[in-house]
Amino acid sequence: MNTFKLQIVAPDRIIYEGDASFLLVRAMSGDIGIQANHQKLVTPLTIGRMKVEFPDKEPRFAAITGGFMKVGGNCVTVLTSACEWEDEIDVERAERAAQRAKEARNVARSKEEMDHAEIKLKRALNRLSIAKK
Ligand code: ATP
Repeated sequence: MNTFKLQIVAPDRIIYEGDASFLLVRAMSGDIGIQANHQKLVTPLTIGRMKVEFPDKEPRFAAITGGFMKVGGNCVTVLTSACEWEDEIDVERAERAAQRAKEARNVARSKEEMDHAEIKLKRALNRLSIAKK
């Protein structure tokens, strides 16, 4: 199986460093799938679901809170402000965050406050949609 080197880095930890056979991430323009020897690319990522396939184990899904992806030389680096594997997501925390964001949206008094609440809500709903049930 053709593989590439994948590194997924968040501010507080390295989420993954090793071989992968496929990566699916959400860019501004839509989902992007990466296989071995993909052409060079740098792209911003949005809040969404990430799927990683490995040569030797079951695929894993993660909630990702935006960032950047760099592809080149059969290496892929994902730099993200936050990322959790599906079994790491604290569902109650995400539910509380969603509730707070909805309340903040209801009392927003400016576009900035509304945008901030919308992004918070999107992050929480993304986590809830990916959390392992
Ligand atoms: P909250 O209001 O609950 O902190 P948030 O969307 O503001 O949510 P982030 O700023 O995106 O949180 O993330 C801060 C840190 O907390 C990151 O390390 C992220 O991985 C982690 N994190 C946030 N929400 C959850 C969750 N529901 N389950 C597990 N980890 C989480």
